Amino acid sequence: MFLSAPPAASVTALPRSYYAATAAPRPPRPALGGDVTADVCVVGAGMTGTAAALHLAERGYTVHVLEEHVTGFGASGRSGGQLIAGFAGGLGPVRSQLDPAAVQAYWDLGVEAVTLVKDLIRRHDIACDLVSGHVDVALKARHVAELEATAAEWQRLGYDGLDLWDRETIRARVASPHYVGALYDPGGGHLHPLNYTLGLAAAAERAGAVIHEGTPMQTFEETRDGVVVRTPHGTVRARWLVLCGNAYLWRTVPAIGARIMPVGTYIVGTAPLGAARARALISGNEAVTDLNFVLNYFRLSADHRLLFGGRVSYSRVEPRSVAAAMARTLHRTFPDLAGVPVEYAWGGYVAITINRMPHFGRLGRHTLFAHGFSGHGVGLTSLAGKLMAEVVAGQAERFDLFARIRHLPFPGGRLLRTPLLVAAMMAHRVRDWL
Ligand SMILES: Cc1cc2nc3c(=O)[nH]c(=O)nc-3n(C[C@H](O)[C@H](O)[C@H](O)COP(=O)(O)OP(=O)(O)OC[C@H]3O[C@@H](n4cnc5c(N)ncnc54)[C@H](O)[C@@H]3O)c2cc1C
Repeated sequence: MFLSAPPAASVTALPRSYYAATAAPRPPRPALGGDVTADVCVVGAGMTGTAAALHLAERGYTVHVLEEHVTGFGASGRSGGQLIAGFAGGLGPVRSQLDPAAVQAYWDLGVEAVTLVKDLIRRHDIACDLVSGHVDVALKARHVAELEATAAEWQRLGYDGLDLWDRETIRARVASPHYVGALYDPGGGHLHPLNYTLGLAAAAERAGAVIHEGTPMQTFEETRDGVVVRTPHGTVRARWLVLCGNAYLWRTVPAIGARIMPVGTYIVGTAPLGAARARALISGNEAVTDLNFVLNYFRLSADHRLLFGGRVSYSRVEPRSVAAAMARTLHRTFPDLAGVPVEYAWGGYVAITINRMPHFGRLGRHTLFAHGFSGHGVGLTSLAGKLMAEVVAGQAERFDLFARIRHLPFPGGRLLRTPLLVAAMMAHRVRDWL
């Protein structure tokens, strides 16, 4: 099974994946039974929720985290693991809404997000196979022009180290006949996303946070001085509620769900290739993303597999032959891998927003949320957790910079928004072919 539909309340284990097979040991995290009080209740134990819990607990707050399934069950335990600087939507939506100084501050937070991930890994000694280097690859001349514009814009914003690669260079670095140019960013990289999440969870627990697995938030209500959060076997009364359910939260919190769309994306993992063959594919071991709107992304694992992702599904219906289709795309991209078997195939939900910028905000006086990272969450989620902890501590400026960006709801309401998005995506797909 690739996808577990967002509301699957009975599922408590991780889906079969390369990450689940190589996960760090995890302690038992019993469900909430009874009523507790806390400074903060965090909902969701992915990267956002565990990072929020860690930063809050380090500041001395009492924190209870409610996770419907298990830690890392959502996108955080399934993702491509690509640590990518910048924002999926570029800076256009920010430039149209903020003055130049605020745009620079917004950009600087994005840079801080990537640095923060590396700091957290180092500070908490998280074994998650972190590797430096990310490459955006161009499939056509139009993409090369886009990469040149991106490099110029990032450099104007003060981002150093970027390198534009021509056709010969990228073909020497990534053994695929399809790429005609690239933008190399030594600041990006890749990591084992499940083990990063489990490492954040363990660090949060060491700092005093309590994580309850198998504990769905069913409802919440704001009171005069806080929130009451109800679960099947207990309640949490807290001064603050921090919602980190991302693509899975739209049913329980429809007020914010309309502004994100859960989109299925899939990854296949080959059998181990051996160190030499793996290095022949991606000689610098970078994470690689192509520039198509419906994009492919890939990288090597620590045990020398190729982890290859792509192929989105907007229908929330699992495509039956997705593993076979993904394997065909992989072999088309890397003809030298013909005959190499695929050993893992899994999928998950990315939460996208219309403008592809992350959606941060408040619901009432005591409830914060951050979601809709639109495929850039490996970097941005830890910062989201940190900024929500800052709000609880009375320092809201940095969170509010993100929260100032307006987000439109997906058109069509509950019934029509998926078909409308499918139609829009088909239009983008046609453009990818041109
Ligand atoms: C296949 C795939 C590939 C991806 N590749 C990349 C990539 O290469 N680079 C990148 O930057 N991003 C990538 N992403 C996106 C990235 O993984 C996400 O942005 C990020 O993990 C989001 O983290 P999160 O903690 O906000 O959400 P999640 O990890 O989804 O965690 C949300 C958690 O909340 C829990 N939850 C929800 N509702 C409730 C409730 N009512 N009660 C209790 N618990 C609840 C869920 O069970 C879940 O565990 C990818 C995503 C997928 C699915």
